[in-house]
This record gives sequence, C-alpha cells and structure tokens, in this order.
Amino acid sequence: MKKIITFIVCFVYMTGFAQDDFAEERKQMVKTQLEARDITDPATLQAMLKVPRHLFVPEKIKKYAYRDGALPIGNDQTISQPYIVAYMTQALQLKPQDKVLEIGTGSGYQAAVLAEIVDSVYTIEIVKPLGIIADKLLKRLGYTNIYTRIGDGYHGWPEQAPFDAIIVTAAVQEIPPKLLEQLGEGGRMIIPVGETRVQRNLILATKKDGKINRKKLIPVVFVPFTRDKN
Ligand code: SAH
Repeated sequence: MKKIITFIVCFVYMTGFAQDDFAEERKQMVKTQLEARDITDPATLQAMLKVPRHLFVPEKIKKYAYRDGALPIGNDQTISQPYIVAYMTQALQLKPQDKVLEIGTGSGYQAAVLAEIVDSVYTIEIVKPLGIIADKLLKRLGYTNIYTRIGDGYHGWPEQAPFDAIIVTAAVQEIPPKLLEQLGEGGRMIIPVGETRVQRNLILATKKDGKINRKKLIPVVFVPFTRDKN
C-alpha cells in the first residue's frame, strides 16, 4: 500500500512538474516576446498564457515550441511565431460575443487562441491531413466553440456569414472578394498581402457603412495562400 501511495505521489509530482515546466516557458514567452514588444490587450495576453502551444507542434520539436519564431508543422506548412499570432489577434479588437472566421487552420493554434476570447471560431484548412489532426487536437483539448472545415478558404464560409472578424494566415496577392463580402458591418479583417515574398505586409481591413478601409501594418513572412484546383 505504502509503495502504491509513494508511486502515486511521485507520478503526480512528476506530471505536475512537467506541466509547470511548459507553464513557466509560456509565461516567459508572454513576458519577453509579447509584453516587452507592443502586445497590451489583456484578453490576447491571457489567451497566449493559457493555450499549450507545445501540443500544436510535432512531438520531436516540442521543446522549441516557445521560441521566438515560426516552426514547421509538416506538409510544408508552419505555425506562426507567437508574436505574430498575438499581434494579429490583438489587431482584430475582439469582443466576447464575436463570431470569427479563420482561413488556414494549420496546427489549430491560432484558432485555439481566438476561441479563448470569442464566442465562436470557424476555421478552414485546404491541406486535409493538417485539418484532420488540428480538429482532433482541438476536440481533445475541449474546444466546443471551434468549427473546422477542409476546403479552399477562398470562398469563405457563406452559410455562417457575416463574421465580426476574419483572419487569414496565408499570404495572398489580393484580398479574396468573398471574404470582404462575408465581413459584417463594423467587422475587422487581418490578412498578409503582397505580390512577392519580400513585399508582404499585414493589412487591417475594416468595414464601415458597407465601405472597406485598408490600413497597412507591419511587414511579415507567411506561407502562400494556395487554391484548390478541383
Ligand atoms: N493558423 C495556423 C498557421 C498555418 S500556416 C496555425 O496557427 O498553425 C497557413 C495555413 O494556411 C497552412 O496550413 C495552409 O495549408 C493553409 N492554406 C493555404 N491556402 C489555403 C486556402 N486557400 N484555404 C484554406 N487554407 C489554406
């Protein structure tokens, strides 16, 4: 009996310790990569502190999950740098009752960060294996307010429009017109736009009285937006 209790105590201690290890790294990430820069929105910081980023990267690079950079997630795709995830989230000026559309589920990390802040997140991924893995993980983590779909996000998600906010996490040359259409009145869209790799900028598009206003934010590097050829 004593042995069993000792074992249980050790096990709980060790698993607790392992979790704390990542919690501490996450805290440092928020402090040094986000707060030390220009991330001030409390909801964004809280979400970045909570979502276990290490679970969204492949097992063998878990230890690098909280580094100040993007990481490969397979199928030639990447999970964005924590700062960029936070920057885009903050730029969307989210409210708890918002309905958000994401194009480019990838690992599902950005969707999880959004789901911590808003009412519902609709996310579309064009690469099937990535979409399936992300959906499984998000369900396992208990996110019941994230709806996933496999397909070409160029068309948006018309059945669920309008959206209060839209986030595109792959670089386009031009903003897809259907996404602008599906943005509700007063809505915000954040999207990397540019002709070539070196010219890409994050654009914040807002809709007021049916008119779109575009604001250029910071230069960024993103994987390209692809199209379904079917
Ligand atoms: N938000 C992701 C980052 C993913 S990288 C994360 O948090 O991990 C960009 C993703 O956009 C890739 O997975 C890529 O396959 C996807 N993508 C590219 N073009 C797309 C399109 N037309 N529709 C949907 N997803 C697309």
